[in-house]
Amino acid sequence: MTTKRKKCLTEFQLKNILARGSATEEEIELMREMFQALHGVNYFGMCLHPQWLLKALDDERDGIEEDETEEVKAWLDREIAEEFDPVEYAKTNPPITIICEEPDNCRSRQKHGNACRCIRENFRNQADFKDWQESKLRELKDTITELIN
Ligand SMILES: [Zn+2]
Repeated sequence: MTTKRKKCLTEFQLKNILARGSATEEEIELMREMFQALHGVNYFGMCLHPQWLLKALDDERDGIEEDETEEVKAWLDREIAEEFDPVEYAKTNPPITIICEEPDNCRSRQKHGNACRCIRENFRNQADFKDWQESKLRELKDTITELIN
């Protein structure tokens, strides 16, 4: 089965258009398609403003976005439980790239901070995450020291 992916502008591109205050022919065409997908032919006569598309993208995401509340709670609870009843686990040392590249763009992080999906998937608990952060800082410090020596 092949599903043709609908061509549309990303949030980033839309924000870019807003920031520039202008759009290219191609962008305008894509915006038209997005408006049509959203509103059918009713989009005729509508103000084709990127802001509306951004809002629509946002609403759509809120609708389909998985509710992580339970997962976050379970993850945080485990740390508390294990404070009283420690569990042996192997420390991991994943590369720095596992963390949301742009924390501001991680919806999970906006909602759950240091319990965001990227962190939960890689660390047993917040203490584990903090240890890792510190070890990464040490690595960085060592590298810098090596460079200046
Ligand atoms: Zn994240």
